[in-house]
Amino acid sequence: APAQIGVTGLAVMGRNLARNFARHGYTVAVHNRSFAKTESLVADHGDDGTFVASESMADFVASIEQPRKVVIMVKAGGPTDAVIDELIPLLDEGDIIIDAGNAHFPDTRRREERLRGLGLHFVGTGVSGGEEGALNGPSIMPGGSEESYVTLGPILEDISAKVDGVPCCTYVGPDGAGHFVKMVHNGIEYADMQLIAEAYDLLKQGLGATAAEIGQIFAEWNTGDLESFLIEITADLLQHVDAETGSAFVDIILDQAEQKGTGRWTVQNGLDLGVPITGIAEATFARALSGSTPQRTAARGVLRAEAGTWAVEDRDAFIEDVRLALYSSKVVAYSQGFDQIAAASEEFGWNIDRGAMARIWRGGCIIRARFLNRITEAYERDENLSLLLADPHFTESVGNGVSAWRRVVSSAALNGVPTPAFSSSLAYYDGVRAERLPAALIQAQRDFFGAHTYQRVDKPGVFHTEWSLDRTETAQ
Ligand code: NDP
Repeated sequence: APAQIGVTGLAVMGRNLARNFARHGYTVAVHNRSFAKTESLVADHGDDGTFVASESMADFVASIEQPRKVVIMVKAGGPTDAVIDELIPLLDEGDIIIDAGNAHFPDTRRREERLRGLGLHFVGTGVSGGEEGALNGPSIMPGGSEESYVTLGPILEDISAKVDGVPCCTYVGPDGAGHFVKMVHNGIEYADMQLIAEAYDLLKQGLGATAAEIGQIFAEWNTGDLESFLIEITADLLQHVDAETGSAFVDIILDQAEQKGTGRWTVQNGLDLGVPITGIAEATFARALSGSTPQRTAARGVLRAEAGTWAVEDRDAFIEDVRLALYSSKVVAYSQGFDQIAAASEEFGWNIDRGAMARIWRGGCIIRARFLNRITEAYERDENLSLLLADPHFTESVGNGVSAWRRVVSSAALNGVPTPAFSSSLAYYDGVRAERLPAALIQAQRDFFGAHTYQRVDKPGVFHTEWSLDRTETAQ
């Protein structure tokens, strides 16, 4: 029987996606540039279901029923283009190519436009959850034409993670929308991880607590509002002991965080769209700082701290303060990420349903969390919500933690503990809620040196003052 879907690219991700399709009863055509991976998939996991293995791309394509659905799961960038070029002459009008790799959304827009011109559907699809998710149910963010989703959607929903029986997969929007949302998901993941790391550091420095003790605090937090995959694995990691040295595992790891680039893309796009995604940006820069070895070497022991010796008096109160500050900072990071999605949706005409995005992130992906339900509910209350933080649930829950947030950030500053994401999130919160910002002065400076004009609070219009002449004001 012909295959219902095909997967080309059978490294960890493609292999596990193919197995996931097979386990759900689909006949899966499988192909990989080097045939050895295809053979080993069938040899090792033939029990999962029905695979149709092909050595050549032509045989692979021929083994799939029409309209064909071909999932590409290869290294992002040039390899994806190479595979698309190889597929094009083999496909027929109406066939669907699904790029499930981590493509940058402008590439997806370019590829979609090209393939649309050839009568093919191109579905740039975000897939989150790592290899585990790919096998057992990822969060899936497909873009492309709505028409392609009619036949493809049910299959993707079938293999996606489920939360309360609801699939963690939905149609995101045209062309690059799926990969864009995946990119922002990853950016939020960076922010979430940085915030958790700062909370850990605060507990370590403020309480002098051991990694294992902090792990227990995280495990406790995981029973409340913060319940999430990342908090759960943090609790686990912190309690893990290195077999070789007997030290806490976290204490033997070099303190340099690497990155593969999706955080950087998110920040670059935030700058392009002019959306203040400070949480994601600080998280991305914090990783960069950790890897700034020459600078850290030059600064260590040389830059004066003039900081106190941190001695927290009320242990339980401090832990609760850090928990509340973490929660509030996290809401800021998500609020900013959803602003970015809204801005891109507007810019590219994607019409993305933000509540639905929070819903499909509840399971399968790295940022899966209980709290995403609250975000979905907020956008259900008001689909045009202009600021997630201003939804009544969040004004209340973040509002309850504001004093704690201020205590934590100010104590950290006084004691010389860096909290870039906690601090910048609080600064954003105070900035966005301010009655009046000092931006007025900046606009005045711009008019002074560059004749960039300004608007007034007391009357409409655009004005310029002749600063170097007699300082008369003229309406522009
Ligand atoms: P890799 O990114 O390591 O890519 C390896 C695969 O790409 C192999 O199948 C390889 O074939 C194929 N390939 C490389 N170059 C070419 C080429 N020029 N022509 C044809 N095939 C080529 O695999 P992963 O499984 O880790 O990831 C696949 C995609 O999924 C990537 O885009 C990645 O960013 C994304 N992704 C990965 C996640 C993860 O947790 N790893 C999570 C979510 C998305 P060969 O065997 O012949 O070398």
